[in-house]
Order: sequence, then C-alpha cells, then structure tokens
Amino acid sequence: MGTFHEQKQLVENLNLKSGETWRGQCFFCNGNNTLSVSNIHNTLLWYCFRANCDTNGCSKGTLSKYDIAQTISARENIDNPTTLAIPEYWQHIADTGSETDMMKWLHAHQIWQMATRKLLEIRFDPKQGRVVLLKTHAGMATNAIGYSLNKDIKPKWYKYIAGRSPFIVDPGSNICIVVEDVPSACVVAAAGLAGVALMGTTYMDPYTAYITRYKYAIIALDKDATQKAITIQQTLSFFMPTRMKRLKTDLKYHMHQDLAKLLNHKTMFANGNFITEV
Ligand SMILES: [Zn+2]
Repeated sequence: MGTFHEQKQLVENLNLKSGETWRGQCFFCNGNNTLSVSNIHNTLLWYCFRANCDTNGCSKGTLSKYDIAQTISARENIDNPTTLAIPEYWQHIADTGSETDMMKWLHAHQIWQMATRKLLEIRFDPKQGRVVLLKTHAGMATNAIGYSLNKDIKPKWYKYIAGRSPFIVDPGSNICIVVEDVPSACVVAAAGLAGVALMGTTYMDPYTAYITRYKYAIIALDKDATQKAITIQQTLSFFMPTRMKRLKTDLKYHMHQDLAKLLNHKTMFANGNFITEV
C-alpha cells in the first residue's frame, strides 16, 4: 500500500482540479477501477474500495478512514441518487391565490414562488393528505418530502425517499445556507442564496459531499440546535470557509429583504468570528 507520502504523491500527480473526482486502477493493489480520488476545495481524499487494500488518505492527514470512505462514496453518488417513481395519484396544484390554508402556507414561505422558477416542484398526496415538495431528475423524484397542514396527522413532515441527500433549493449561488427545513430553504433561495435543508435532526456524513460543491457555507439553524450547528461547522470547516449564524427567530419567518442583510456573507467572512448571533 506504500507510505502516506508515496500515496499522496501519486494522487497529486493526477492533477485533479477542485471539485473533480477520478476513479481508476489502484496504484498499489492494481485493483481494477477500485481507487477513487476526490479534490474537495484543494484537499485530496483517496480510498481504494478493494477488500484487503488499505490505500486511503487525506492530504491534510487528519480524517478518519471511515470519514474518507463516507465522503468519497457520497461524492460519487451525487450523480446517481436514490430515486422514486412519482405516484400517478399525486395531484398537481392550481394557484388559487391565498384562498386555502395550503396556498397561504406555500406563498408565505416563498415555496410557490420558487416552484414557479422551477427550483422545486409541488404536488398533493391525497392518500396522506400532504403537500409534497419534490426535486426531480429525468422524470423521477430524487427528493420528496410531505407536509401535513392538518395538526392531527403525525408526523408533520414525512420523507418519501430514504435517500441520504439534503433538499437543495438553489437559484444559482456559490454560497449555501444550511437550514432546518424546505420552507426555510425556499426563503433563502428567494434572497438569492442556495438553501440546503437538512430535513431532520441529524446531520448525515453524505451531506458534506453536496455542501462542499459550494464555495462558502453558512449554518443558520434554530437556537436550540446550536450543538448540531457547531458539529456541522467543524465538519465543513475542514474543507471550506464556513460560518455559523445563531438565529433568534426561525429563518422562514424572515422576509427575504432582511435575509439578504442577515446573511451578508461579505461581512461574515471578512471578520474572523465564526459565530454571530442575530
Ligand atoms: Zn487498492
């Protein structure tokens, strides 16, 4: 398997640019297509997937073998996400202004507006009585989450796909804001930034592969999720400039005009404070 420095030298010789991945023959065990290499913000990760080959590493030298494997696998899976055939009984929703609770909710959090811009899609699931927010690719759903406006239906949010990708609403920004839920991600997108919704209490390692495709990351979770936010900030800081914003009010109740000011990345990244409170 060679020494760390031998491995690093061979991997560097591939000359991968930031954001690129490479898969090919392992330099050490000669496994056919078993070695995967990723350049994430100029940190190189490499991992050989052949059993018994212990070729793996990180150019910064401090990631565990497990983290390297997780991050590299997720990076490769971005182009082959878990998908769901969209059920035929899911209904399209017509715009009825703000006549119904559902339309009020969709408009209040910019979800309808972002769907009009094709940053996500909306359906209604009559079986579960849920509004379904989804991302699609080639006619398949790659992410689908249902929200119940009826307080008696539990859970409030239901994940239709047990995939391990965050729900991203991106108007084409190189700055991403990590948020709790899809409405918050839509509010962020309306302010011109990419919203990355965790949709759950835990941060999954594969999320890192998605988030590191952006240039900067800002973690903006609720105040009661501070510990989670710190963990995410530490994970992402390894690869990219990351800041944390501690919120007094849930992001989705901010108007997008004041959000742009709130998440002003220029001031956040110019000063050295990793955490700011607003
Ligand atoms: Zn190998």
